[in-house]
Amino acid sequence: MKNFINEEKIFDTLGETENPSRKHVETIINKSLELKGLSPEEAAVLLNCEEKAVLNRIFETAKQIKETIYGNRLVLFAPLYLSNRCINNCLYCGFSQDNLNSETRLLDADGICGETRALISQGHKRLLIVAAEDPAINIDYLEEAIKTVYDTKEGNGDIRRVNINIAPMEVEDFKRLKNTGIGTYQLFQETYHKETYNQQHTSGPKSDYIKRLYACDLAQSAGIDDVGIGALFGLYNYKFEVLALLYHTMHLEEVFGVGPHTISVPRLEPAQGSSIASNPPYPVSDTDLKKIIAVLRLAVPYTGIILSTRENAVLRNELIYLGVSQISAGSKTLPGSYSSNKKAEGQFNISDERSLSEVVEDMTTRGFIPSFCTSCYRTGRTGENFMDLAKPGDIKSFCQPNALLTFEEYLLDYNPELAEKTKALISSEIDKIRDPEVRQKTSGKIKSLSRGKRDLYF
Ligand code: SAM
Repeated sequence: MKNFINEEKIFDTLGETENPSRKHVETIINKSLELKGLSPEEAAVLLNCEEKAVLNRIFETAKQIKETIYGNRLVLFAPLYLSNRCINNCLYCGFSQDNLNSETRLLDADGICGETRALISQGHKRLLIVAAEDPAINIDYLEEAIKTVYDTKEGNGDIRRVNINIAPMEVEDFKRLKNTGIGTYQLFQETYHKETYNQQHTSGPKSDYIKRLYACDLAQSAGIDDVGIGALFGLYNYKFEVLALLYHTMHLEEVFGVGPHTISVPRLEPAQGSSIASNPPYPVSDTDLKKIIAVLRLAVPYTGIILSTRENAVLRNELIYLGVSQISAGSKTLPGSYSSNKKAEGQFNISDERSLSEVVEDMTTRGFIPSFCTSCYRTGRTGENFMDLAKPGDIKSFCQPNALLTFEEYLLDYNPELAEKTKALISSEIDKIRDPEVRQKTSGKIKSLSRGKRDLYF
């Protein structure tokens, strides 16, 4: 299998686009507003902007694009860690064989059910299953685990979308994974720079760079048409990683006709046993992270951008304006820690420790609508179908009402105190729905929710 990340080309592009003129940057910014995306060369020009005033122009444009495509919605989810027992050695990771200095944990069905109950009780509807790489985390185990999550009920609540972040598998296993009814399969390349990759992944199956690079291809071949990619920022030069993410996107578009559903932008955080995690080889400042997110928003406007609780609340509150479309909230990164309040070290430090309700409340005071929507994959709006609707802007006619319906359901079941405070926000959002029929139906469905109906969507 060929390495489709041409490092030389990326370095050349970054070198050739250094110190861009204001005029050149303006031309690219204007092009991005057509919402057709940018080439890696154009993205490189923006990544090479260092002047504050020019950066602010890029941030304002990202904000404008985010508002046009995603409105004021923000999708919420939580990770569910199944295991911290790992056969890899990744120098930056707290679960690494050589770094882990706490007990190993692998959740059984009861453990998974307990964790799921605890997450449902907070109001979550979307989970991201995460596991370290371990022979015990095979497809038989995963099928059971996902079934347990979907079968678990607590009060009125249940989990309606399970996304997955686990080690690559063979096509046959990916097919079985697809049949469990997952949403997105996501996997981060960590670093696209091969030499750095080899230095960081010293042993275990993960040390195979190419195998990891092609994992999303295998998932796509197995019919999982929503895949997520990402890089762990701090391991290598962030400009290189952003361009590589764009080349990865182009590769998936070329081969499967659809790019990644999401891009994640995790930044290295301190982790038990890892000195690299506390001293990133290529530190990424807050301004750099803002630039990464803004440039991605301009370059791939219809790809979701995911931000985790690795970042602190203050910074997250800035980044949600720049193009992030999904955030995790109330997260724990140690298996079993939602249901037991035992303190122990997770995979890495969490900087935003607010509960889901605190995050939701904060979002609404900023005019954002928290969305727990899980409708797209349940109605077949995935992969190319999703992009076909998203690109002409048609997806909005589903997303906005679905965000309101799931938020209303959350308020009724988990946060009645906030319901009073957000009445005006919800009714002004209903008024904003352009199509009169959809507007009327949304109001009708909201009334049905208050009469006890649940899980209503378009
Ligand atoms: N087994 C899966 C795999 O092969 O990717 C899951 C890996 S891990 C549980 C999920 C992600 O956490 C990794 O892909 C990595 O990007 C991120 N991660 C690892 N160590 C980290 C650290 N110290 N700080 C922030 N993120 C970290």
